[in-house]
Amino acid sequence: MGLLELRVFYQSSGRHNRRTYVVGKATLKTTRGDDVQRHVRNLLSKVCKGESIETSDDASARIADSLGKAFLGGLLGRQRIARSESKVLHFSEIGHPCPRKLWYNVHRPDMGEFISPDTKLKFTYGDIIEEVYLELVRIAGYEVSNEQDTVVLNLPDGWVVRGRVDARINGTLIDVKSASSFSFDNFKKGLHNDKFGYRMQLKGYLSAFFEQGGNQQFGKNDIRRIQGRTELYGEFHVIDKTLGHLTCLGEWYPLISDMEKSALVASVDTPVEPERKFSAIPEGKSGNEKLSTECSYCPFKRECWKDSNGGRGLRTFLYSNGPVFLTKVDKEPKVAELMNDQPKSNGTAE
Ligand code: SF4
Repeated sequence: MGLLELRVFYQSSGRHNRRTYVVGKATLKTTRGDDVQRHVRNLLSKVCKGESIETSDDASARIADSLGKAFLGGLLGRQRIARSESKVLHFSEIGHPCPRKLWYNVHRPDMGEFISPDTKLKFTYGDIIEEVYLELVRIAGYEVSNEQDTVVLNLPDGWVVRGRVDARINGTLIDVKSASSFSFDNFKKGLHNDKFGYRMQLKGYLSAFFEQGGNQQFGKNDIRRIQGRTELYGEFHVIDKTLGHLTCLGEWYPLISDMEKSALVASVDTPVEPERKFSAIPEGKSGNEKLSTECSYCPFKRECWKDSNGGRGLRTFLYSNGPVFLTKVDKEPKVAELMNDQPKSNGTAE
């Protein structure tokens, strides 16, 4: 990594007393996320106290390039497009606990809902925030490498999982997440609720790295043998995109097992979609039933639940805290219902 020179300017009585300090001469040796984020906060704290940072022309160009790529990646990525290659899965989709969703991803991508313009904007600035974080980590003195490197994990019968890792910080593989305050708290409390399969995704990246390069890919603090099995260390680095808070979650992961690999292939290498993973749940005490959180966020929910409501399909009601997808309506909700993508009044608003 080209080391950055941070020149610190002290302001005194409204005038610059220009004293230059070189504070980024050596790459910091610590690797664990808490240390990384402590150094990032220290850096920000210095700036907040009136110390400015100068970077070299090289750094400016690199930052402009990486932020530009993040912007275009966020804007143009995640499109609903047919797969051009057969037998290829993506790391971002193998963590989801529903095999039926994975099946739809592979066989019926055309049935997925388009994401909304609001969501597209959210994803775009989310990708930029993640890149801003990695640049701060660099400026704080760490080596950020392997950014957006492609990794491949081999599965049975010629299938593969392919994707791009976010980065490694001083050799430790990390996955950067820009999160809502709610999701941030979930990471901060230890990710007890991993509904979207983030751990499986990180475990997949680690396993792919190991498959490609073996032990040499990992520093001595990032690989260990426990009771005859190999475990690899990886971290989530999470940014609360509303409040600017940082947290990280570092854990040891076993390699993806042959059984897990076979289960992935079994769920997609079949002409018929697997059973639904999630059932509908009661909506209060009304007798109505609604989709679970996992299904509510699934782009294939309308296809998957087309037999609900006696064959009519999902019904969407616009409650004050967001849409609710009902699979069974015993009692009509007193809020507007979405019909053909247009709200239609259904009595008194909530
Ligand atoms: S709607 Fe639910 S059950 Fe159906 S594919 Fe999506 S996550 Fe799975």
